[in-house]
Amino acid sequence: MSRNLKEILQPGAHVVVVGLGKSGVSAVRFLLKLGVKISVSEGGRAESLEGDLGCWLAEKGVFVETGGHTAELLTSADCLLVSPGVPLGIAPLVAARQKGIPVIGELALAKDFLKAPVVAVTGTNGKSTVTTLIGDLLRGSGRKAFVGGNIGIPLAEYLAGPQDCEVVVLEVSSFQLDSAGEFRPQVGVLLNITPDHLDRYASYEAYVEAKISLFKNQQPGDVAVLNGDDPAIAGWLAGGAERKSPWPVRAEIRQYSSCGRSGVTASVSGTRVRLATQDAPGKMAEEYELAGTPLAQAPNSENAMAAILAVRAMGCSPADIRKSLAAFTPLPHRLALVAEIDGISYYDDSKATNVGAVYSALGGMQQPVVLIAGGRDKGGGYEMLLPLVREKVRGMVLIGEAKEEMAKAFAGLTRIAFAGEMPEAVQLAGTMAQKGDAVLLSPACASFDMFSSYSHRGEVFTQAVSRIKQQEG
Ligand code: ADP
Repeated sequence: MSRNLKEILQPGAHVVVVGLGKSGVSAVRFLLKLGVKISVSEGGRAESLEGDLGCWLAEKGVFVETGGHTAELLTSADCLLVSPGVPLGIAPLVAARQKGIPVIGELALAKDFLKAPVVAVTGTNGKSTVTTLIGDLLRGSGRKAFVGGNIGIPLAEYLAGPQDCEVVVLEVSSFQLDSAGEFRPQVGVLLNITPDHLDRYASYEAYVEAKISLFKNQQPGDVAVLNGDDPAIAGWLAGGAERKSPWPVRAEIRQYSSCGRSGVTASVSGTRVRLATQDAPGKMAEEYELAGTPLAQAPNSENAMAAILAVRAMGCSPADIRKSLAAFTPLPHRLALVAEIDGISYYDDSKATNVGAVYSALGGMQQPVVLIAGGRDKGGGYEMLLPLVREKVRGMVLIGEAKEEMAKAFAGLTRIAFAGEMPEAVQLAGTMAQKGDAVLLSPACASFDMFSSYSHRGEVFTQAVSRIKQQEG
């Protein structure tokens, strides 16, 4: 996209917001401020727009089509602002692109409309944790920070307001990066890349390309914080000119490692994060103690390294960072210890919706595990988990649409049982576990076949565990 979006989004221009989720509503609010003519194309049924939202749109003179996206409306626009939930390959979007109509997501707006510097965090897992932690560390250093994007408040909502923050911290998904235009974070963080969303990407390589595109528009003086232990990231860095779609990495690279790789800027030793000075890699310059905080265990110790490198690049002082690290509270449904009953620990890791997250959860467990998994399959396969399942999983209770396929994948490695509903799964897992074991809900799948969201799934799990605790007590 070479044209300035400010030139395109002039008063009187016609912009169609495609997909009216939370970010779509924020996009409308932002566009109202610009005085453009707005239409909305929503794939869901008209009923979803009844009530306050429908009245508000009517009052603002926004034309709305529901039940699908018509090429007629989309190709009549000067610009399409697409929500991340809408696949970019659908026919009316392809038709619009063929006509030369810019098709952008909210991240593309940052270049021309955002005033503050951006720290952007992507990766298959750990985005929300690291984005939140970076926000905490910046605020703990006295910076006024907006934290949002793919988590909490959409960027367009911030752009629609007074823009009164010194720094903007964004969680960024691969879908958002696909329509990010010339989005350029001053600090970009890539946590890891493992198979996910392969129900939407043509290949794993395409997913990797989407993730690394975070760094495409960075300039000298910008910083790229990278997980130095991640094979996909290492493959990209080593790929050089042979990479499929090469573009030069202009940012300064700062890597972190949990397994003692040399030449990195941050490493972890026991419960301490060590930062080497840039001019003398390997020479210890700063230390951060994580003991006694929820960040001490993997994968959160990795997340801490990524966040520390990001905020050091933003000029926060080690003393301020240390204070805020000690106060960090983990987000719910991410490896949260729910209860201990009869010597068995019950963990809610409902946010683990892909194999990479389950891999890190199992990897961090010191005791045998009874794993509750399953739900809606995301197409990435389960091979990555086989060695850890063999090593650590005493038994597995499978739920949801994917249970048969998962049972096939793990056959012969551990004892496998099926359950219909979550309370039955928790009950069964409790009977399979022995004193000292962990019962871990870490599903490796999306939740939408049985629940309204991952948090709903985690809450139902927590309630089922509480009921067992009451019965026992
Ligand atoms: P995201 O926003 O990328 O989904 P979250 O912070 O919400 O990331 O965590 C999602 C899942 O990934 C949780 O199950 C959590 O325990 C796990 N997780 C968190 N950090 C990491 C990491 N660095 N590597 C692998 N898994 C992680």
